[in-house]
Amino acid sequence: MKSPSPTTLPHAFRDAIEKRFPGARFDEPLSKHTTFKIGGPADVYVEPRTTAELTDAVRLADDHGVAITIIGGGSNLLILDSGVRGMILRLKGEFEEIAARPGSLLDSGAGVKLPKLIAWAGERGLGGSESLVGVPGTLGGSLIMNAGTREGEIGDLVREVRVLDRGALRVDVLSPRDLRFSYRASNLDGRLVVGALIELKAGKRDDIINRIREFQQSRLATQPVHTHNVGSTFKNPPGKFVGRLIEQAGLKGLRIGGARVSPVHANFVENLGRAKASDVLGIVESVRGKIRSEFGVELELEMRILGEP
Ligand SMILES: Cc1cc2nc3c(=O)[nH]c(=O)nc-3n(C[C@H](O)[C@H](O)[C@H](O)COP(=O)(O)OP(=O)(O)OC[C@H]3O[C@@H](n4cnc5c(N)ncnc54)[C@H](O)[C@@H]3O)c2cc1C
Repeated sequence: MKSPSPTTLPHAFRDAIEKRFPGARFDEPLSKHTTFKIGGPADVYVEPRTTAELTDAVRLADDHGVAITIIGGGSNLLILDSGVRGMILRLKGEFEEIAARPGSLLDSGAGVKLPKLIAWAGERGLGGSESLVGVPGTLGGSLIMNAGTREGEIGDLVREVRVLDRGALRVDVLSPRDLRFSYRASNLDGRLVVGALIELKAGKRDDIINRIREFQQSRLATQPVHTHNVGSTFKNPPGKFVGRLIEQAGLKGLRIGGARVSPVHANFVENLGRAKASDVLGIVESVRGKIRSEFGVELELEMRILGEP
């Protein structure tokens, strides 16, 4: 296979990007931008800091027929070893800002990490999102995934979502009527999410901060949070816990190359240091095969795979 290189980008596009975004990185290893620490290069990686910059990046890519992929914290992504062709966008700057709004509302950019958003709200006596404190992704990625726990999902808290309309190059506001959230899915997939209005509940600051700490401690006790992973590998099949099925099948600790099924939580795959995406895919296939043959259950991925196979 041809090795990925920036020459796959049209020269005029490359020149225009260099001029508009002096900080753009060509052939950027995406392992630096995922919690798995796995992933080949992006042809070009750009961090827009304002709506004008985001609009320009999108316009340049569309004018030159270059594919765009937006990522958040990379905390739900397995990026393949051959990397991602085209342009990767990661929202920074104004997209990492939070502001209080009247009532119990807060307005957050899509680039804000959920733990920061929840701590920020807690300090101001706004609760209702504490259980999500262990989700290390950004608000944008979490809206796409409808990130959640047994206690609730981000979709339950959303009062408005702002997306960039790629054709008109303007920000559109979506109301709850336009939005559909279900188990680890939303109808925002494929849109460029730039921010949202989140509705929380007023409460006592100290109670909220205590609940945040409790959720953090229970994560530490039950999940391998200090390893390189992307959280749940598979979705829970209806009425079942996938972690328990994998454990019952005797697959805890299964190792392929530099990846293994976590001995702490069987639905997590850990990168032990030098794992390739192909090692993780090997684990995914082994687990799927064994769960199918032992329990007749077909597992669906929760983590997302990006890149050229
Ligand atoms: C230790 C650990 C614990 C976790 N626990 C949980 C949990 O309890 N519950 C849970 O639901 N998840 C959990 N996760 C998974 C992950 O954190 C969530 O899925 C999170 O919502 C992903 O957000 P992200 O910003 O990292 O998105 P990414 O992984 O970067 O991207 C996910 C998807 O969203 C898209 N995307 C990202 N940003 C944008 C944007 N601004 N606009 C449009 N599309 C965008 C990407 O293209 C991709 O398709 C955990 C992960 C880890 C590592």
